[in-house]
Amino acid sequence: MPPKAPSHRHATRPKLNKGYSERVHQVFSDHLGAHGLRLTNQRQKIVDHLLASEGHESLEEVYGALKKYGIGRATVFRTLKMLEECDLVSTVSGPKGTTRFELDLERPHHDHLICMFCGGIQEVRWPELEKIQQKACRELSFQPQWHRHEIFGRCADCAKKEK
Ligand SMILES: [Zn+2]
Ligand SMILES: [Zn+2]
Repeated sequence: MPPKAPSHRHATRPKLNKGYSERVHQVFSDHLGAHGLRLTNQRQKIVDHLLASEGHESLEEVYGALKKYGIGRATVFRTLKMLEECDLVSTVSGPKGTTRFELDLERPHHDHLICMFCGGIQEVRWPELEKIQQKACRELSFQPQWHRHEIFGRCADCAKKEK
């Protein structure tokens, strides 16, 4: 496991939920099975890496952590795509626009504050904002499927260093 960056906070991770990793594996192997594919060792290693990480990792970070097992970049790329297709993984924009990935099974909806200086990503929940969005969509008879808010800026730690 790579050293954990304290700035990649993931306070609401259901990491300790009983059977969480089993359910993640189940959803993924069902999805793969529906496409005539198997949960191979390499795919399993990628899922296990995401389960153990603090979230918000880029393709390069996942690949960098797993290449010692002989897992290629293309395999990591395709596996992340498939995890996204079955809604196990969702994406966040990193500070430089690189896509980052997080496991999203059984997690409450949250949005992100992205520090452009240290690259840290914080998770935020804005119930009032979510209500405003729902109301606005209703008024326009628009059926929302998903959304994400990403606020780019300078985190409190980086602001302190500036002084
Ligand atoms: Zn939201
Ligand atoms: Zn997140």
